[in-house]
Amino acid sequence: MATKDYYKILGVTSTDSSDTIKKSYKKLALKFHPDKVSPDKKKEYEEKFKEINEAYSTLSDETKRRSYDRGETNNYAQSSQSSQSSQFEGGDLSDIFRNLFRGGSFGNQFSEEEDANTGNDLQYEVVLEFTEAAFGCEKELFIKKDILCTLCKGDGAENKQFKTCTTCNGQGRLKMNQRTPFGTISQTITCTTCRGKGKIPEHKCPHCKGAGIISSKEKVTVKIPGGINAGQTLRVKNGGNALQNGTPGDLFVVIAIKPHPRFTRDEYDISMELPITFSQAALGGEQAVPTLSSEEITIKIEKGTESGTRLRLKGQGIPYLNHPSHRGDQFITLKIKTPKKLTKAQTKLLEELAKLDE
Ligand SMILES: [Zn+2]
Ligand SMILES: [Zn+2]
Repeated sequence: MATKDYYKILGVTSTDSSDTIKKSYKKLALKFHPDKVSPDKKKEYEEKFKEINEAYSTLSDETKRRSYDRGETNNYAQSSQSSQSSQFEGGDLSDIFRNLFRGGSFGNQFSEEEDANTGNDLQYEVVLEFTEAAFGCEKELFIKKDILCTLCKGDGAENKQFKTCTTCNGQGRLKMNQRTPFGTISQTITCTTCRGKGKIPEHKCPHCKGAGIISSKEKVTVKIPGGINAGQTLRVKNGGNALQNGTPGDLFVVIAIKPHPRFTRDEYDISMELPITFSQAALGGEQAVPTLSSEEITIKIEKGTESGTRLRLKGQGIPYLNHPSHRGDQFITLKIKTPKKLTKAQTKLLEELAKLDE
């Protein structure tokens, strides 16, 4: 049994943590999601997407990963793969995509949601100001997506007039005979002409040309919780593409954050540099510093402060996601500025000081 290099497939090494593997997998799954490509590349992307999932289903499970590392044959992957492929044949990968972002365990995702009658998921990036991400906000997004035709309400027929489908004689299903090495297998499939409805429009709806679906730019208001960080994703259920006789896919809003002129962020803590003069450092004193909530806070600089001293303002950082009453801290690194230009008076005083130093 040929064993594939799952680490290589996911672009990681065998010493990488499960977090790193998950991150890399998410990136690849997004990149090769077959719903995002032109039809000529779809097959290739589907193959790649399958391969990525196969690799991840093994490496994301500690037991399977250890057994894979020991070089044992990848029975797990083989067996789960076979149950996957039937789903893939359905051509709808949005379930996988959804589960991926939901963070659901990969082991049972295929049994969890069998509904193949779901529109494609959409992904959209929103760029937030630093403080918008910290305290939360509401954003209006304009998303190009498929919606049900506004004229025929999705059934594709002009004036709701239908006739019986001649392909399936109104049955909605067709019997197919397939020759296999084990004999002829008879299978019932959904009629592709009427897509299982047994009837087709008498005349096609002039607005959507019978598709039942039109492309539209839709306004979506998204409530963004405070504490969200770059790279995190919000899911808007049913905010994706509509599907004739099905449920719409989901919309995934990926967060990006603009840098702040003063602060840098590390999870829920923020940091800044505060330039102080040599005399402030030597003599000590008070200094007002900016905070995230735009109020200034006065800090005390101790006598004889060294450059690089780090001060902490407790609870002045980013509010925790879903726990806004908890906040991170604000760190202030004091940097002593050495003056580049001196006035006559300053030069004289420093020269006096230098004499005392001797
Ligand atoms: Zn229509
Ligand atoms: Zn039919």
